[in-house]
Amino acid sequence: MPLNVPGILVPLQLLVKPRIIVPALCVKDIRHLDFHALKRAGYRGAIFDKDNCLTLPGKDTLVPEIEAAWKECRQVFGADHILVVSNSAGTSLDAGGIQGESVRHHLGVPVLFHTSMKPAYSCVKQIQSFFRSIHVKDHELIVVGDRLFTDIVLAARIREESWKERFGSRPVASLSMNTTQTSDISLPLQNTLGIWTTGVWVKEATFMRFCERKVLEAVKKWVITPAKARANGKEKASIPGSEVDTEQSPQRALMEDSKSSEADEEEAFKRAFVRQIPSPPPPQKKSILRNIIGFVQNVQFRRGT
Ligand SMILES: [Mg+2]
Repeated sequence: MPLNVPGILVPLQLLVKPRIIVPALCVKDIRHLDFHALKRAGYRGAIFDKDNCLTLPGKDTLVPEIEAAWKECRQVFGADHILVVSNSAGTSLDAGGIQGESVRHHLGVPVLFHTSMKPAYSCVKQIQSFFRSIHVKDHELIVVGDRLFTDIVLAARIREESWKERFGSRPVASLSMNTTQTSDISLPLQNTLGIWTTGVWVKEATFMRFCERKVLEAVKKWVITPAKARANGKEKASIPGSEVDTEQSPQRALMEDSKSSEADEEEAFKRAFVRQIPSPPPPQKKSILRNIIGFVQNVQFRRGT
């Protein structure tokens, strides 16, 4: 596995901008995404990771289980509005771009050929150039991938560029609700959406995934929740006549409020864009007793004949 220097440097940036690894949405795989709802909400372009998101690691063909979802995605967005950005196919390690061409052929969408690994800023620039050439803006993009330090950070960096262009400043810490309306659900202001696929088709980089999860948990616990608590506290203080129960553990009250607010945003995205799919029944385990009975019946049958 090649060394992904931009990915390795992400923890350093986390010290300054810990929110960059927080996905807007978590789904098991792309079957759970409602592409029609995303399109209705204003998303017009999609960036997909390849390994362990669309294909098995190192393979060029689509995972059979997600064929229908992929077909729907291509129909909804249009194949020319989808871009596969991989840290294997299409990189400088892909000699002659052969794997990139193979992936493009099998998946039926363009593959980005890039010299810097995700989530390098030069890779971000290339992605922006691709979508701007077809008149898709940064805030109209979704980024789908299975790794926080590469795919979700990539989404954050595109989002940052988008904010600078739209508002001339860095992203605000907390997006206000009730700014975008879709299907009777209020959502935060539309911006590049980082979608984390948590299902892994083949186990790989287990230790790094474990670390990513732990860092995400820590960021949510120590950064996002307290920040939202402070924001909620200020909101309450600014409302005339509002009373905060300061007699009985005010900090606890603020933390509970913040958790519910964060959950509101996550829930809004889930309700808007996640499709509930019934999980398949678990495979029936043959009991030892049933095996013995089957064996005896088989022997009796043979003796009979
Ligand atoms: Mg991947």
